[in-house]
Amino acid sequence: MTKDILVKAIDVTKSFDAFKALDKVSLEVRRGEVACIVGPSGSGKSTFLRCINLLERMDEGAIWVNDELMGYRREGDNLHELADREISRQRRRIGMVFQRFNLFPHQTAVENVMEGPVQVLGQPAAKAREDALALLARVGLSDKANHYPSELSGGQQQRVAIARAMGMQPDLILFDEPTSALDPELVSEVLDVMKDLAASGMTMIVVTHEMGFARNVANTVTFMEAGKVVETGPASEVLSAPKSARTAEFIRAVH
Ligand code: ADP
Ligand code: MG
Repeated sequence: MTKDILVKAIDVTKSFDAFKALDKVSLEVRRGEVACIVGPSGSGKSTFLRCINLLERMDEGAIWVNDELMGYRREGDNLHELADREISRQRRRIGMVFQRFNLFPHQTAVENVMEGPVQVLGQPAAKAREDALALLARVGLSDKANHYPSELSGGQQQRVAIARAMGMQPDLILFDEPTSALDPELVSEVLDVMKDLAASGMTMIVVTHEMGFARNVANTVTFMEAGKVVETGPASEVLSAPKSARTAEFIRAVH
């Protein structure tokens, strides 16, 4: 694999009983790029993200992140599933930000950000706190470090969730409709943080209906429908001159 490809998914297929949620989905994301995935509800976007970070096990296909085959180990021509410990090691390299903020409700903002570095990476608490405070400053929440999630707005909670993902120093951050649950006036503060993160060189895969973000920030846009990739390419081409009539229709509809 060429060195500048961070994520490579080939023919990822996943069924829930008889229902094929993903049907040979392939995607490449270059290091430092933002890949947006768009498409109607039920098209398999979340399932695909969940396959990348091993929350879901694909039936067929392969995903590499940073040249490492996710969830499997190669031995000659044979593939073996990895043990749980290996899977959690791989998953640690990938941050995820969900539609619902998923913060620990009984922990303050700074404690939420420190949790992974201390519990998972084994960092000393003092260093983890210092780093967490720096991350909260970066997402504009220095003054909220000691607030509990219930004392924060949805936009602030989502910014803490992004800081928490960053705290694990991942190779990649996956965003699953990070602004869909927010009141409209809170969307831009979260998108601004994501834009800043993209500018810092973080590789990101973002499922979103925010076409402005896709247009301004994404390098590539992939349109999915019914478990398949309908169209993928440079953001400007897919958004301005889609090749597929279905992509064009979707983009018009969400504008
Ligand atoms: P999207 O994120 O694009 O809205 P999803 O990946 O959530 O789509 O879902 C794709 C399809 O797979 C949907 O029809 C959904 O109902 C189905 N699906 C997702 N997860 C499960 C599951 N755990 N069990 C059964 N069906 C599922
Ligand atoms: Mg979804």
